[in-house]
Amino acid sequence: MDYLYETFIKTKKQREWFDRIDTLASGFAKRADTYDQKSEFPFENVEELKKAGYLSLTVPTEFGGAGLSLYEFVLLQERIATGDAATALCLGWHLGCFLELAEERTWDEETFKLLCEKVVNDQVLVNRAATEPATGSPTRGGMPQTTATRKNDEWIINGRKTFTSMAPALDYAIVSAQIGDTGKKGNFMISMKSEGVRIEETWDTVAMRGTRSDDLIMKDVVVQNSALVEQDRGKSELPKAWLLHIPACYIGVAVAARNEAVQFAKTYKPNSLPGPIGEVPEVQRKVGEMELELLHAREVLYSVAHRWVDEPHSRMQMGPELMAVKHIVTNAAARVVDLAMRIVGARSLAMSSPLQRHYRDVRAGLHNPPMDDMVISTLAKRALE
Ligand SMILES: Cc1cc2nc3c(=O)[nH]c(=O)nc-3n(C[C@H](O)[C@H](O)[C@H](O)COP(=O)(O)OP(=O)(O)OC[C@H]3O[C@@H](n4cnc5c(N)ncnc54)[C@H](O)[C@@H]3O)c2cc1C
Repeated sequence: MDYLYETFIKTKKQREWFDRIDTLASGFAKRADTYDQKSEFPFENVEELKKAGYLSLTVPTEFGGAGLSLYEFVLLQERIATGDAATALCLGWHLGCFLELAEERTWDEETFKLLCEKVVNDQVLVNRAATEPATGSPTRGGMPQTTATRKNDEWIINGRKTFTSMAPALDYAIVSAQIGDTGKKGNFMISMKSEGVRIEETWDTVAMRGTRSDDLIMKDVVVQNSALVEQDRGKSELPKAWLLHIPACYIGVAVAARNEAVQFAKTYKPNSLPGPIGEVPEVQRKVGEMELELLHAREVLYSVAHRWVDEPHSRMQMGPELMAVKHIVTNAAARVVDLAMRIVGARSLAMSSPLQRHYRDVRAGLHNPPMDDMVISTLAKRALE
């Protein structure tokens, strides 16, 4: 096994999960180009992950899940992304949702338990649908234009969500909406089978094509009162550590690009040289730079994830560090992919080369939360306080 992984696998449980996921991810890598080129959701990959019990990874053990920690979640997500980034990002949304709920316990206990049991027994897929055309990224604080109107004991939901990853495969969406005329936001759990819910296939992007992050349309969708699972909590919220699945995903893409470039450097022998290009000092410099970027980014990613797990009393103060990880790691991932492509040369641009897919996919990391400018201003504000 690559030394890159050995460094971060610490326990027997992690080893067992990693080996299982390693085998699956190698299979995902073989299908990744097809899903990307057809812009199709990777149903086969998700089916295999369901069979492996992966959907229950972060569901608490008391509700039948594996109860894995943030650190373990990040470790496995990175490996999946090296096989297929779109699959990893999708599963990251689902598992991240459960990790957050397991750690915060802000939902009504019975509602959370029922949803967990559905994941464990029926392998349902869940995602948050928060982005809208008018708000852009929800992390900017815009008010959703999706509305929830009270009618007797029920809520009527109307609105459109953009970027709903896994749209064709989802069972439940946790949808943000304005609650009546209170001027407050809330999140509603909506079954994708509800009357009035439909998907519009708008996902036509160059990156992360397999995520099928299509539009979710809700027209007069009626839900029970209990569907209102979360309301504005303001500053009592824990920092969103579960979002570390995002840097884990993009650094996984970088590892795939690095593997491709190293293999190329070891085997490509143009007749102008006595041996492979890996013997040329300039190529070695670029390989070394990729290793340096990966080492730096992954040390930061895993040490902050470890601290989150190991020091629960520090969690409330860890927001800026968690945001900084996203900035450091996703930007490092983009630099690694760039270096990998420079090593391989023009062949990296061939549609048959996985590098052109990594090049497109890694760009999406910039537009997943938190965005770079928000990270920098958060760090600056903390320093200036
Ligand atoms: C592959 C992928 C999968 C995704 N999956 C999901 C999902 O499952 N669920 C979900 O809810 N979302 C999802 N998203 C959406 C994501 O979280 C963002 O909401 C989305 O990418 C829009 O971000 P944005 O920065 O481009 O948009 P905007 O917020 O519209 O910003 C556009 C640009 O305007 C500027 N800008 C906007 N507002 C401000 C401001 N207040 N201050 C300063 N500058 C500003 C910035 O320069 C920014 O680059 C996904 C996105 C991607 C790329």
